[in-house]
Amino acid sequence: MLVHPASDRDNPSHPSRPARAQVAADGFGGLLTIDLAAVRRNYRLLADRAPTAEVAGVVKADAYGLGAVAVASALYAEGCRTFFVAHVEEGVRLRAVLRTDATIVVLHGPPPGSEPDCDAEALIPVLNCGEQLAAWLRFSTRNGLPGTCAVQFDTGMTRFGFDLSEAGFVAEAFARANIAPCLLMSHLACADDAGNPANRLQRDRLGTLRALFPSSRFSLAASSGIFLGSGYHFDLVRPGAALYGVNPLAGTPNPMSPVVRLQGRIMQIRAVPAATAVGYGLAATTRSATHLATVAVGYADGFPRGVLNKAAAWLGETPLPLVGRVSMDSVVVDLGAVSEALPRPGDLLDILCGHYGIDDLAADAGTIGYEILTRLGARYWRTYVA
Ligand SMILES: *Cc1c(COP(=O)(O)O)cnc(C)c1O
Repeated sequence: MLVHPASDRDNPSHPSRPARAQVAADGFGGLLTIDLAAVRRNYRLLADRAPTAEVAGVVKADAYGLGAVAVASALYAEGCRTFFVAHVEEGVRLRAVLRTDATIVVLHGPPPGSEPDCDAEALIPVLNCGEQLAAWLRFSTRNGLPGTCAVQFDTGMTRFGFDLSEAGFVAEAFARANIAPCLLMSHLACADDAGNPANRLQRDRLGTLRALFPSSRFSLAASSGIFLGSGYHFDLVRPGAALYGVNPLAGTPNPMSPVVRLQGRIMQIRAVPAATAVGYGLAATTRSATHLATVAVGYADGFPRGVLNKAAAWLGETPLPLVGRVSMDSVVVDLGAVSEALPRPGDLLDILCGHYGIDDLAADAGTIGYEILTRLGARYWRTYVA
């Protein structure tokens, strides 16, 4: 049976925490709230965009840091039946909580010797190279197993998978073993750049493999690829980031619902005069007399250090600019805009919210939403809302 993480009494990321979430949460500097209803809404939106394909869910890296158990369970409840992880170990953990009708695909394939683990947990390995192919076919035929697997071809990204020139050799190896891969996949290098000619090229190259693998299902698109149109959907699409609210359409409004809210706790508030230098390197100076709040979220919590004098925390509708450098465990925030009604130590400020989301922070930090997302979560109290 699926683990149901919807209540804040269950906290899969902190299984040893006491059941009284509020008391335990008080001991944390940051609170991460993950909206599983938004994940499910995003899944439905992607399914609408790819009506002829199966929509899988990519939950590698602990569902991009949001908790693979909670996220996969929510996706399962929404009808998702195929899940992608990167490592065998991630697949084994996921299998422990997903029903047997869920398919779990391991993108990196089996490291040598882990073929029995794949078989025991009914994980479908993606075979990316000749060594993995040979070991998997040998293991399967020797043990009289069906050898269910996926195969990846490199259609232009030069990262994972067989060269197209090896397609004949791969097909022959499968034919000799009397096994057919259930899924044939490739990955787009430039899907977030709709006009890039590499997209078409990769799609057409994948298409040429249909004749060699007539009984296999095909898959190319991840989050952004879904928005390139039906020609890119093949039989199965593999979104990750878009499920978690990251904008799959760079530079245009985000069609996905935000999933993550991050709040930081105010540890201390001080009144300071104008021209007060703040933080490491005394890299910022107050312009006028104000109140400053020290908030317990820093770069060790995944808040990027590169946002010097950018970004803001929020108190309701009011942005409160960050002042100076991000420390390991804290940032300093200017409360000048709320001087009439100051918050108090212990109160929470929004760090990521509807006003300022993952992609905004990523832009201010000079990175992508994926990196922001996958670095969150290790140190926060997590609450799941359904
Ligand atoms: C991570 C990954 C995905 C999901 O990508 P998103 O851009 O997060 O949707 C899909 N396929 C492969 C091969 C991946 O490595």
